[in-house]
Amino acid sequence: MLNCDRLQRRKARVNMEGALVARDQVGIQDFVLLDSITSETAFLDNLKKRFNENLIYTYIGTLLVSVNPYKELGIYTKKQMENYMGVNFFELPPHIYALADNAYHTMLTEMNNHFILISGESGAGKTEASKRILQFYAVSCPSTSLLDRARDRMLVSNPVLEAFGNAKTLKNDNSSRFGKYMDIQFNREGEAVGGHILSYLLEKSRVVYQNHGERNFHIFYQLVEGGEEETLRLLGLERNCQHYCYLVNPIFHSIAEVERYLTAGPGCNKSSIPIVMQYLFGIIGSILHLGNVQFENLSAQIASFLVIFHHTHFASCGLQVLSPFSVDHAIYARDALTKALYDRTFTWLVNKINESLENKDSTKKTVIGLLDIYGFEVFYVNSFEQFCINYCNEKLQQLFIQLTLKSEQEEYEAEDIEWEPVQFFNNRIICDLVEQRHSGIISILDEECMRPGEATDLTFLERLEERLGNHPHFVTHRLADQKTRKTMDRGDFRLLHYAGEVTYCVVMHQAKNSIVKHCFPPTEADSKKRPETVATQFKSSLMGLTKILTAKEPWYVRCLKSNEDKQPGRFDHVLVRHQVKYLGLMEHLRVRRAGFAYRRRYEVFLHRYKPLCPATWPHWRGVPADGVERILKHLGYSEDEYKMGRTKIFIRHPRTLFAIEDAYEIC
Ligand code: ATP
Ligand code: MG
Repeated sequence: MLNCDRLQRRKARVNMEGALVARDQVGIQDFVLLDSITSETAFLDNLKKRFNENLIYTYIGTLLVSVNPYKELGIYTKKQMENYMGVNFFELPPHIYALADNAYHTMLTEMNNHFILISGESGAGKTEASKRILQFYAVSCPSTSLLDRARDRMLVSNPVLEAFGNAKTLKNDNSSRFGKYMDIQFNREGEAVGGHILSYLLEKSRVVYQNHGERNFHIFYQLVEGGEEETLRLLGLERNCQHYCYLVNPIFHSIAEVERYLTAGPGCNKSSIPIVMQYLFGIIGSILHLGNVQFENLSAQIASFLVIFHHTHFASCGLQVLSPFSVDHAIYARDALTKALYDRTFTWLVNKINESLENKDSTKKTVIGLLDIYGFEVFYVNSFEQFCINYCNEKLQQLFIQLTLKSEQEEYEAEDIEWEPVQFFNNRIICDLVEQRHSGIISILDEECMRPGEATDLTFLERLEERLGNHPHFVTHRLADQKTRKTMDRGDFRLLHYAGEVTYCVVMHQAKNSIVKHCFPPTEADSKKRPETVATQFKSSLMGLTKILTAKEPWYVRCLKSNEDKQPGRFDHVLVRHQVKYLGLMEHLRVRRAGFAYRRRYEVFLHRYKPLCPATWPHWRGVPADGVERILKHLGYSEDEYKMGRTKIFIRHPRTLFAIEDAYEIC
């Protein structure tokens, strides 16, 4: 009962570092606590005011809003970690460590599973946030030397995966080109004992093609620019990115950048993950060589790829005939091969890391899942990848609605708690538009893929028009009104996502690289069995993810990008406003403000706090709800500070809860 250690620690912190632990006085730390914040403008003003003082974190209840400062703020030191360890959520200024610590302690107290969903657009700071959380657990969780290895492996898996899965884009110098979900497993003592990673839809097209100003995956440059002489010699590689067709934009901004990327190499070695780095480098080298294969002159080099770059079919006499591809086809086949090779290598790498993180001990474990997944994307030309990414965001928004907005309101109803319903847009209709069996976009795409030879990009578009023409969130060039039509091309369809409109291009690069072709490589077209398109695979993996997440308690980190130019300390009002809107922060705030910060089943509350009241200690023989009421009355709380539901107690403000918790700690 008496948590002396924690109390002592807290007192010591207050005495020694008064300035550090004092609440920051800039703006409002938690939007829920201040009644005057009702408008988006006021919301943004508060964010900006804090951002200008280098306070990048603000709460909406237990949701953490983070604004990317694009500069080091010195707020992730070991000392800071210690400050936040075992402290009540609202006791110190908002911080990613506070959220991480709170999730961890709730998990240990309630022995249940949690996840932290980190969302935001490209460059908003999701990956940085997930790394900070992982580092926090590495430092704050108890550990024995045996467990250090599990912990170290988890930490070191990051740079390795980043080397293979991240790349410089126009939006972010270190953009994650895959979605990542990582379970961190803890034993009853709270030690991190293992982990598991799931990866989602690596952007493999980047291997063969990068937009102007963008680059291939980091690992290619790490190898070519930073690989050891001997490795390069063995692989027959030159130390010159210009030499490789797949590395057309080898612009390093600074030596420091090179060095930063190079840390992944030693990271791989240090990790003691049983990865044979040479083999991996061998594959990377092969991909670079393949990319340089030219098809104009059918020279010796093509001979070695004869089987790959020829159609194989059976003539009527039964003889196997090899007929050469056209140059275009050969290039297409080469690129399809390198993309598949890279994609499978990445999957292999994730599996290897998982083997090394696996904990075979069968004792009960609880987990905290970290989800760092691509944010909503809108480009000038949006292709299949954006379609998948934005679909993923629709699913996560739906989950957010289910777990937070909807469930919150349903809970009040179920518990007979008086409450004013808050309106919000339910994006279920858009999820259905994409994924519904038989009538959704993905199903229609699958059907088209069953008609190899007949189906084209345009027939796919026609099917969409026939079947979805009346849908309020779907429009094509032909179906659009005159004004909208001017903003679309003939091969486009547009979806009205919850976060805004996005126009997807079905016909890409003069029909050479269409969505249908993207999902339906020639080899699969030839096979007799029903093909599973990339879209269907992605849909299944998202269903799996939703299932994993629904079974856990959610925590949210919403990352906002402060400006498009990666400039330190610049707050672009319009850009931030847009993100606040589509991340649904105002809706979340309204629900939180109208509601209650804390709720617990009467039995659980009574069990914990019964020592606070002579009438309930050591045993309360009556109905739990009455016992809880006795405690609250005894502590002097008035009835507008809490509400009694059917099975739970609801407490309006976090400060009330913390006062109760403080009373508990000193009793
Ligand atoms: P993507 O979706 O493209 O992967 P992301 O949301 O993961 O984007 P990050 O890679 O985490 O974005 O952040 C982009 C860059 O912004 C980082 O490389 C870093 O320079 C800067 N940054 C992000 N968060 C912080 C932070 N908390 N403090 C300082 N700099 C930050
Ligand atoms: Mg990232």
